[in-house]
Amino acid sequence: MNSNIKLIHTNIVYSEDRNRLAVYTDSYIVVEDGRVKGIWSELPEEYKNLPMKDYGDAVLIPAFSDLHVHAPQYLNRGLEMDLLLSDWLDKCTFPMEAKFADAEFAKLVYDAFIDDMIANGTMHACVYGTIHTEATSYLIERMNSKGIKGFVGKVNMDRNAQADLLEDTSESIRDTEAFLEKYSGNKNTKPIITPRFAPTCTREQINGLGKLGKKYGIGMQTHLVESIWEAEQARLLFPECSCDTEIYERAGLMDNGPVIGGHFIFPSEDDIRILRMYDGYAVQCPDATISVIAGIMQTGALLDRGMKIGLGSDISAGHHIGVFTQAARAVQLSKLKEFYEPEGNRKISFPEAFWMATKQSGELFGGTGSLEPGSVFDALVIDGLSDAARKLKPEQVAERFCYLGTKENIIARYMNGEELSQAL
Ligand SMILES: [Zn+2]
Repeated sequence: MNSNIKLIHTNIVYSEDRNRLAVYTDSYIVVEDGRVKGIWSELPEEYKNLPMKDYGDAVLIPAFSDLHVHAPQYLNRGLEMDLLLSDWLDKCTFPMEAKFADAEFAKLVYDAFIDDMIANGTMHACVYGTIHTEATSYLIERMNSKGIKGFVGKVNMDRNAQADLLEDTSESIRDTEAFLEKYSGNKNTKPIITPRFAPTCTREQINGLGKLGKKYGIGMQTHLVESIWEAEQARLLFPECSCDTEIYERAGLMDNGPVIGGHFIFPSEDDIRILRMYDGYAVQCPDATISVIAGIMQTGALLDRGMKIGLGSDISAGHHIGVFTQAARAVQLSKLKEFYEPEGNRKISFPEAFWMATKQSGELFGGTGSLEPGSVFDALVIDGLSDAARKLKPEQVAERFCYLGTKENIIARYMNGEELSQAL
């Protein structure tokens, strides 16, 4: 029999669709060549002689996807959380990002960031670096070698930031092109064009990036209508555009690959129309919303309109690198949204939040984020969440993990069908 087959026995939970969790109790899952072959309650004859990994009462779930995270802000997590966006950027974020001119410092931070992300169950991610090519090159190389499926952007910014973070526009385009050229053949972690956001980018820079997107067939990540301040800045600095999203559309940045818009809290009808037209993802970052942004995404309403939505840890506007925690927070925020603005808003269910963090986002990375047959087997085994006096059902274990879990509850991690070392 093919040696690339793995057999696991445990309870299994994944998103069947937006509203439903698939739950298999006391079942067998077979993984062949890194992909799920099938799930059975009775083991088929042909697999009976395979060595079996038995996790007993634990629960197997898909690994998570973080669609918005700033690796260079890792050391700032949980600090200066009493500021609002504009002040937080000036006092906290930009001074930290400037330190990434030092590539040795960057390596220290990025190694810790990547290990912590995997330890917390995130195996797919859309990551921002800084303007610095050397540091960002290390980040993408390291993520790629660790097998993380994802995108990394060298950040572009040429106005409205402290002097040592401002790029010369043509140099910025040249550096970005070299970065795209060097890494577009990567197997796991690919480059993505990353204009920081409208307030820090000139039209000339955004247009230049649009040409690169077209030339290399590469998509874009940025922050979209994340705060009232940011949305106003976009209108002020780009008066020719009707909304924030149109700034990027006009440059052709939405024509070439995935489009990932962080936050999307204050969209106009035009923002929604344009992002949907390009099948882009809006990324809800619940902790960031609570801490520095002050606004709540219309998650339920946007889902009902067919918008693709993923979740982001948004380190360090968000403080927890485990994006699984954001599934719980997305449910909580949707209730506040419905309570304070009942018109057109609704709370979301836990299955919807789990789906956003796994299956819906996993589509971006080549068919992962699920455990249905054919899915790439990136998965976590979670345990230790029931009480002695109350044994939870598998789907309750998944829910409690998102509310109360820590990385210690993840007792095994699989990437592309291979178990990762416990030494994380
Ligand atoms: Zn961000």
